[in-house]
Amino acid sequence: MTEHAVVIVGGGPTGLMLAGELALAGVDVALVERRVSQELAGSRAGGLHSRTIEVLDQRGIADRFLSQGKVMQVTCFAMIPLDISDFPTRHNYGLALWQEGIERTLAAWVDELTVPTYRGLEVTGFAQDETGVDVELSDGRSLRAKYLVGCDGGRSLIRKKAGIDFPGWDPSISYLIAEVEMTEEPACGIRPDERGINALGKLEDGKRVRVVLNERHVRQGDEPTLDDLREALIAVYGTDFGCHNVTYVSRFTDAARQAASYRERRVLLAGDSAHVHSPAGGQGLNIGVQDAVNLGWKLAQVVNGTSPESLLDTYQTERHPIGARVLKATMAQTALMRGDERTKASHETLSELLKMDEPRKRYAAMMSGLDIHYDLGTGHPLLGRRMPDLDLITAKGPRRVFTLLHDARPMLLNLGEPGGFDITPWADRVQLVDAKYVGTWELPALGPVTAPIAVSIRPDGYVVWVGDLTQLGLADALTTWFGPPSAA
Ligand SMILES: Cc1cc2nc3c(=O)[nH]c(=O)nc-3n(C[C@H](O)[C@H](O)[C@H](O)COP(=O)(O)OP(=O)(O)OC[C@H]3O[C@@H](n4cnc5c(N)ncnc54)[C@H](O)[C@@H]3O)c2cc1C
Repeated sequence: MTEHAVVIVGGGPTGLMLAGELALAGVDVALVERRVSQELAGSRAGGLHSRTIEVLDQRGIADRFLSQGKVMQVTCFAMIPLDISDFPTRHNYGLALWQEGIERTLAAWVDELTVPTYRGLEVTGFAQDETGVDVELSDGRSLRAKYLVGCDGGRSLIRKKAGIDFPGWDPSISYLIAEVEMTEEPACGIRPDERGINALGKLEDGKRVRVVLNERHVRQGDEPTLDDLREALIAVYGTDFGCHNVTYVSRFTDAARQAASYRERRVLLAGDSAHVHSPAGGQGLNIGVQDAVNLGWKLAQVVNGTSPESLLDTYQTERHPIGARVLKATMAQTALMRGDERTKASHETLSELLKMDEPRKRYAAMMSGLDIHYDLGTGHPLLGRRMPDLDLITAKGPRRVFTLLHDARPMLLNLGEPGGFDITPWADRVQLVDAKYVGTWELPALGPVTAPIAVSIRPDGYVVWVGDLTQLGLADALTTWFGPPSAA
C-alpha cells in the first residue's frame, strides 16, 4: 500500500491550494482527483477578491493570475458596487478570471512543487484508526495517510462517510446556468424579476451566450434539460431566442449549509465540502482557498512533529465563524435581490447607506476578505489580523513583507533596535528579520494604527504577537503557534 503523510481528496481550487501549502512545508502530500484534467464544464467562479490575491502574493504567485485576468473593482453586496480603490493594500481591486484559469494556474504551481496526483480516480471510502487513515481508490488500490482532507466539493463523500452533519437552510430559489448558441439576438444584461435576477451575456468567443435564469419553482437534484432552459427563457423574456447547441447546462440554488465540524479525528474538511451557499458576492472559491492557507501550515507542523495535534483545533475555531458569516451574508443578499416592490425599496435604502464612507468600507472589507480578524485576545489592533505588505529596508536590501513569506515560514519582524531579539530555541522554524519601516500603518476599514516595534507573523500572514524589546509574551506566542522551543 502506498503511503503519504497527507492525502487530499479533490483537486479543485481548495485542494490544489492546500497541496501547494503542504508541499512548501516539505510534507509528503498526494492529491486524488476524479477529473482527468482541470477542464471544467461551465464557467463557475468569475474571479478573485483582494485578500485571495494577497495570499497568492504571499507565495509569490499572484502575478501568474494577474497577468491572465482583468483587474477591476468587483466587490459588491447584493450587486451594490463597493469600490475598494482607497483601501491600504497593494491589491486594491479584484480580478476577473474564470475558475478554469484559476485552477489551471494553481495546478501548474502544484506540479512545479512535484505533488503526486492520482488523476482520473475517485476516493470511494476510507477507514481511520489511531495512527492513520486507509483510503480506498476506485481502481481497487489503497493509500495510507496520517491525515485525509476532503476538498471534494459540496456533495463531499468524505464529509458524509466521516459522519459529519451538514445543517443549514434548504433552497428558497433555484437557478439554471447554461452556455448556448442563439439564432436571435439575446437581450443581454441583467433583468431582475420578483424572485431574483436573470442575466444574459455574450461569452468571449462572441458567439455563445451565458444564461442565468431563476426558476418559477425551486428544483434541485435532477439534471436540467434543454427543454427546462427554453421554458425558463420564455417565462422571463417571452422567447427562447432560438437557443440551441447547449455546451453546458446546470443548476445551482441558494441552499446554505455548513459542516458542524471541520474535523473528525484524522479527517478534515475544507472549501465547499465544509460550506455551501449561493454564489452571491462571489465568495465560495475565495474562502475555500483561504481555508486551505489557514489549514496548510498547521497540518504541516503537526505532521512534521513540531506542534501538537491541538493546533488543528484552531482551524475550526478560526475558519468556522468565517464560513458562518459568509452563509449569512449570502442569505441576506439573496433576500435583497428579489424584485418585488418592498424588497426593491429595501435594496434602494441599503444602496444609499452603502454610499456612505464608513458602511462602504465595513462591507467592502468583509466582502473582499480584508477584515478577517481571528480572535487571539485583546491587544494591538494587528493581533489576529492580516499583516500589511510593507516595504521594508533589511540588511539584505529592500524587501516586501509578502516576499519574506514566500517560503511559508513563520517570522519575527523586528522594527526596533537591530539585534534586540534572540529566538535561538525557535531558529530552526521561525525566521528573525531586523528591518526598518518609515511609512504609515493603516488597516482596511479600521484606519491608522500605532506602529508596533515587533510582530510575529504566521505563514498565512496573520499576526500572532505584537510587542517590543521587553519580549513580554513572545515565548508563549512562539510556543503556541510554532511549537515548543528546541533544546539547546
Ligand atoms: C454558478 C456558480 C458561480 C460561482 N461564482 C463564484 C464566484 O464568482 N466566486 C467564488 O469565489 N466562488 C464562486 N462559486 C463557487 C465556487 O465555484 C466553489 O466555491 C469552488 O469551486 C469550491 O472549490 P472546492 O475546491 O472547494 O470544490 P470544487 O471546486 O467542487 O472541487 C472539488 C473537486 O473534488 C473532485 N472530487 C469530488 N469527489 C471526489 C472523489 N470522491 N474522489 C476524487 N475527486 C473527487 C471534483 O472532481 C472536483 O474537482 C460559484 C459557483 C457556481 C456554481
